[in-house]
Amino acid sequence: MAVSRIDHIGIAVESLEKTIPFYRDVLELELLSIEEVPSQKVRVAMFAIGNSRIELLEPTSPESPIAKAIEKRGQGVHHIAYAVDSAAAEIESFIEKGIRMIDAAPRTGAGGSRIAFVHPSDSGKVLTELCEHEQAEEEN
Ligand code: ZN
Repeated sequence: MAVSRIDHIGIAVESLEKTIPFYRDVLELELLSIEEVPSQKVRVAMFAIGNSRIELLEPTSPESPIAKAIEKRGQGVHHIAYAVDSAAAEIESFIEKGIRMIDAAPRTGAGGSRIAFVHPSDSGKVLTELCEHEQAEEEN
């Protein structure tokens, strides 16, 4: 199996401050972390739900891909991320299957994960992320 579970669902928001209370106080999910990911020009709030997570993404710059997504489509579900053992191996395997990748090599995502996005034209227009974690982090 190429992917093992849904790692997280990424949601584009204009403001973490305005959005966090719904997830924390109404859904009563555990807020795991808030961190800035400079490579993607976003601030990320991560909530735990079962062995998956909800990832709220707030742009830190108008050049952020998330700022552009909000400009085009408004706030809302941005991507689905699947857990993989090795992002690099899956990139290679997906390319062999004729799938175009936005990321030809893994890059660093939230929490030190290694991530890669599939080209939405080859994933039914659902922005799809492959997400690899360090083994130690999975046990936390
Ligand atoms: Zn993500």
